[in-house]
Amino acid sequence: MPQISTSIPEMSILSQLNPAPIWIYFEEICSIPRLSKNEGKIKQYLLEFANKNNLESKEDEVGNILIIKPPTRGMENRKTVVLQSHMDMVGEKNADYPHNWSTDPIIPVVKDGWVTATGTTLGADDGIGIASQLAILSDKNLNAGKIECLFTVDEESGMTGAINLRADFFSGRTLLNLDSEDEGILFIGCAGGMDTVGTMSYQVVQAPKGSNALDISVTGLHGGHSGDEIHKGYGNAVKIINRLLWNISNQFKISVADFNGGNLRNAIPREAFSIIVLDQTLIVQVKSWISDFYSTQIDEFGDIEKDLKITARETDVPPFIMDEESQKKFLNALTCCPHGVIAWSQEMDDLVETSTNLASAKFSDNHTIRIITTQRSSVESAKENAGAMVESCLRLAGAEVVHSDGYPGWKPNLTSEILRITRKSYVDLFGKEPSIRAIHAGLECGLVYEKIKGIDMISFGPTIRGAHTPEEMIEIKTAQMFWDLLIDVVQNMPLK
Ligand SMILES: [Zn+2]
Repeated sequence: MPQISTSIPEMSILSQLNPAPIWIYFEEICSIPRLSKNEGKIKQYLLEFANKNNLESKEDEVGNILIIKPPTRGMENRKTVVLQSHMDMVGEKNADYPHNWSTDPIIPVVKDGWVTATGTTLGADDGIGIASQLAILSDKNLNAGKIECLFTVDEESGMTGAINLRADFFSGRTLLNLDSEDEGILFIGCAGGMDTVGTMSYQVVQAPKGSNALDISVTGLHGGHSGDEIHKGYGNAVKIINRLLWNISNQFKISVADFNGGNLRNAIPREAFSIIVLDQTLIVQVKSWISDFYSTQIDEFGDIEKDLKITARETDVPPFIMDEESQKKFLNALTCCPHGVIAWSQEMDDLVETSTNLASAKFSDNHTIRIITTQRSSVESAKENAGAMVESCLRLAGAEVVHSDGYPGWKPNLTSEILRITRKSYVDLFGKEPSIRAIHAGLECGLVYEKIKGIDMISFGPTIRGAHTPEEMIEIKTAQMFWDLLIDVVQNMPLK
């Protein structure tokens, strides 16, 4: 077993687990508070670790840390490998569990083959990445070329560590990202993202005297993550309620008085609400039309959206309604605005290449409507084009449109050298093929890929479930597999 240059904490419960080097460090890290933007203590710990182990270390302007392990004698001609994790974590706890995130340690517990925490997130995302780097840095038996361990700050709340990383902070041009959560999967790409936001102003008129109003709601949809789940065919509440309004406004004289759909920009909208004003004589027909529309939607979605509800109930008549022309523009803009998968990857099965999420549309103050959308793609130019499609729809309706800078994607390269090496190690060690995938969501790798053209990267890790929740847990046996793979890849780096 490698020598570990740290004392084993008393009452250690994880040090009995395999592989010991990782678990001993992981348990130590559990006692160090390290929420995003509060990484001072973990930074100090990492720099002290480097000192104790006589390893060169440095910190950049934003707090990212690099610790360098020189090559073993005879291995100087191997390519340098960069191992990367993020030092911050998400702090979530059960409401009734007392925990001070600035001072209290996380209490790990072992349960049925998994490690979890008492009452809080465990921080295996990405504490297990940090622990594996420390285990490698302090391993005296390793036979490897130069290793650079990169610890970034603030991955979980803005990726400012990766955004501000300088290309010359480290020298290696092969990088293993240790921040993914599915043993058996090698990740070789991720999506970039951007927001496209439209703001349109509208005219109002007084609601006609003697009219009635209906409060329409679309609820009970699945929702889900706008990246990982965009291909699953879940209903978009904004799209559904708009389809309803667009159709009834073509058949009956109705006026929209309020519209409020969707919530978070990275979530598929689960609920949407609207108030319409109409003549009393139309109430029965419009309600019956809505009830037929509900049946159509249930047919279209089948089992995917079993809990979908569409209701219309009479309500107080609001004083103002949208004028006819503004209403036409608004409903046409949302009908035209794309939502969902735009393109599938040519190179990889089951990978969404480009998508857009119509995240929310809401009336706000001063007679304006805000429409928020997000685009994702592993191909930068395709992401920009998806943003342009949305922009065009909104501009046709007279909206002002702005795009956020967003973050870049990492385009999969199936002929990558590090993929070939890692896959061979995996097959040699475990006698089976790993699956090779990209994810339709953001990773720090996208930012690194943008800064350092041609850098060869891969991401893998042990199995973690419930990340970012108090149920977070890591499967013990996959930590051993992760460690075996990591060591094998690091020791088998090719000649320069
Ligand atoms: Zn992470």
